[in-house]
Formats: sequence, C-alpha cells, structure tokens
Amino acid sequence: MQISPIPTLDNETNQIRAMTAEIVANHIIPNEHQLTRFGEPETTKLWAELFNRVKKSGLWAPHLPEEYGGMGIGFLKLAYMNEILAWSPFSNPIFGIMAPNSGNQKILIKYGTPEQKKRWLEPLIAGTMQSCFAMTEPDQPGSDPRSIQTKAVRDGDEWVISGHKWMASNAKRADFAIVMCRTEDASDVDVNGRMTQIIVPTDSPGFNYVRSVPIWGHANGHHGEIILDGVRVPLENALGEQGSGHQAAQDRLGAGRVYHCMNCVGQMWRAFDMMVKRSMEREVHGGLLETKQFIQGFIAESYIDIQSARLMTIRCAEIMEQGLDARTDISAIKIAVPAAMHRVVDRAIQVHGALGVSSEIPLEGMYRGARTLRLADGPDEVHKILIAKNVLKVYRNGESWDFGL
Ligand SMILES: Cc1cc2nc3c(=O)[nH]c(=O)nc-3n(C[C@H](O)[C@H](O)[C@H](O)COP(=O)(O)OP(=O)(O)OC[C@H]3O[C@@H](n4cnc5c(N)ncnc54)[C@H](O)[C@@H]3O)c2cc1C
Repeated sequence: MQISPIPTLDNETNQIRAMTAEIVANHIIPNEHQLTRFGEPETTKLWAELFNRVKKSGLWAPHLPEEYGGMGIGFLKLAYMNEILAWSPFSNPIFGIMAPNSGNQKILIKYGTPEQKKRWLEPLIAGTMQSCFAMTEPDQPGSDPRSIQTKAVRDGDEWVISGHKWMASNAKRADFAIVMCRTEDASDVDVNGRMTQIIVPTDSPGFNYVRSVPIWGHANGHHGEIILDGVRVPLENALGEQGSGHQAAQDRLGAGRVYHCMNCVGQMWRAFDMMVKRSMEREVHGGLLETKQFIQGFIAESYIDIQSARLMTIRCAEIMEQGLDARTDISAIKIAVPAAMHRVVDRAIQVHGALGVSSEIPLEGMYRGARTLRLADGPDEVHKILIAKNVLKVYRNGESWDFGL
C-alpha cells in the first residue's frame, strides 16, 4: 500500500491517512490469516496487541466525538480514513468501528436523553453491550420504509410493540435492539412523521429471536429474524420525539452511505493492487498475464472505475461537509460506487482464476459485499428514482440544474 500525502488536504488529514496506512499495511494485512483463527491463543493475543497499537496511536473509534473516547475528527476526515481502513476487512473492528453498534452509537449521541446515554450508549461504547437495528420486515418492502407494519401502541406509561422483523445484523448477540415502529396511523399525520425508533432490551418478554438468516451461505453474520409479540417497554425508551423515526433513519443512512462508498473505494484499490501484482507474476500460454491485452484492458478499465468512483464520492462528501443538500449526490454515489466495485473485483477475480473465488484471499468476500450493497441501504432503482425526482423538480420550477455545485 503506497499512500503519499494528498496536496489539497490539510496536514492533519494526511497524517491520519499515513498513520492508519502504517497499521493496516504492516500489522493487519500480513496477519489476516491468523486473525480469522478464532479460539487460538495466538489469535486472541494478536487482536489484543492490535487494539493496543491503535489506541496508542490515538486512532481508536474515529466515528465518535472526543467526549465519548473517540477521535472527534468529524465527517470528511473520517471519510478519507475509511478509504485506508477498507484495505482489510479486519480494520474496522480493530479501530473500534463495529456495525451496527457504531451507527447505533451515533444515533444515541444525537437523539438520546442523558438517561438513555448512561444506560445504553456508555456500555455500547465500552463494549460491555451489543446492539442491533431492526427496521426491515419480511412482509413489507424494505425499499419503502414508510410501509413498516410493526406497531407500538401507548398503554399507560408503556409502549406495547408487536411485529415481525428480519435481517437485523448482530441481533443474535444484541442486548438491545433499536426497533423502527409505526406509532401513528392517522391520515392527517405526514407519512414521514408516523415512525418512532424505540429501544427494546432483547431479554424483554415477547422479544423472540427466531433465527439467523443465512446470507451468501453463511449464518455467522447473525442477520436475525425477530418476532415482537406484545413487548412492553417504558415510554421513555423512545429515541427522540414521537414521529422522528424516519428522520433518524435518514440521518443514520446519509453519512453512512458516504462511508460505505469510501470503503468500497479502498476495497477497489486493494483488489486492483492484487490484480496488477498477480498479472506480473502469473505466466500463461507462454507469457506473463501483464503482457496480454485482455488483462491490460482489465487494468485500465479498473483504474478508470476507481478514480471516477473516488472523485464522485469525495465531491459528495465535500458538499455534505459544507452543510449543503447532498441528497442527489448521495443517491448517485450509492448507485455508481458499489457497481464500480462489482466490476473491479470481478476483473481481479478473473485474473486470479480459481484462487480468486477461493477464501484464501479476500476477493470473494469483497465480491459478495459489492453485490449486497447494490440492494442494501436502498436498492439502485430507488436511488435512480430519487435522482430523477430531484432533477425534474428543479426544472419544473423553471430553473436548470446548478452545474457549479
Ligand atoms: C447483509 C444485509 C444486512 C442487512 N442489515 C440490516 C439491518 O441491520 N437492519 C435492517 O433493518 N435491515 C437490514 N437489511 C435489510 C436491507 O436494508 C433491505 O434488504 C433493503 O432495504 C431492501 O429491502 P427488501 O429486501 O425488503 O427489498 P424490497 O423492498 O422488496 O425490494 C426488492 C427489489 O425491488 C426493486 N424495487 C424496489 N422499489 C422499486 C421501484 N420503486 N421501482 C423499481 N424497482 C424497485 C429493487 O430492485 C429491489 O432490490 C440488511 C440486508 C442485507 C442483505
């Protein structure tokens, strides 16, 4: 991994990138095989050493403010850091970022009351509690979250919650779930104001963990199916105002999509690096792969894919950092970047032959991840509709799209 300072970035961002790269390239990537061997004493020791190294370097929990033990580096620096972290699938947990806990931490920081922070956020940050986010339902389209049918009804000083959720990542290990609930049905209430996120301890009577839904043949992601059958929690477990659930989900997903895209870019760089190196070592039909024009085409097309995906993502991040409306650009990168990653990783797999689809190297995991991202966090089609809607709205108002932005 070669990371030179980017001349247009400030010193601090370049320093964070360099320090992150030093750990990822020299201490994580060379140990990837050992890091997967859970249960071996050497593995436990290695994870502990890496946690210490990250903490000593001051790079722990970059997504959290300083008052919560994080780096407090804000949105744009974190986006740049994500690009480097993405070189290894082990970096995020080693740097203290564990989805969906990290997303739940940010939502609790923004919407939580002091009591909720004490009870749920602090243990989540300390690692003594686990959490999940339960929004998607098997019988409703997740791509239209306003269709959610899980209901929370007030009864005295409690919410009574009933519904069916699935795909809640980390649900099996979770001590609490943040559950997206319908709390209003009245037709005079705006559709965006009918949902509320409610904190539900997973040991509550009526909270039934059904199973882990296997994804790509693996059940170890613990993408849980849950039935909530008259679960009772105190009214003060609502996160934010009643009806703020949709907005809280948007807050979570908006910045998250930029991070996911920078993460895709970093993974693409690693796949590219692996592909180029392999092409310079592997001899087929009387010559190295690098001398074959098909393979040169793969290299060139992948370079173009990565650079264009990266520029689009950085531009979107900069618009967000300025506090401007980035919704159209978020949708644009959400479609373009995972699709670019899909193509780049596909080519890298092809160059590696059977090794490419084996679990000996990380390409197959990246491939599954890229494919999944095209439907998670809002499927491509939904984002295309949003882009067209935003653009057409401007033109219908008699204006043109502002190409200066
Ligand atoms: C690995 C993984 C982890 C996940 N983790 C979580 C989690 O932690 N918590 C959680 O709540 N959810 C989670 N999800 C669920 C995810 O957010 C949903 O799968 C996603 O929102 C899509 O919803 P759906 O599966 O119900 O698809 P549907 O809404 O049924 O959509 C199916 C397809 O219909 C098409 N489509 C949709 N709308 C339109 C349209 N208007 N026009 C044309 N075509 C359209 C799209 O191609 C779409 O892919 C996870 C999913 C995966 C795969």
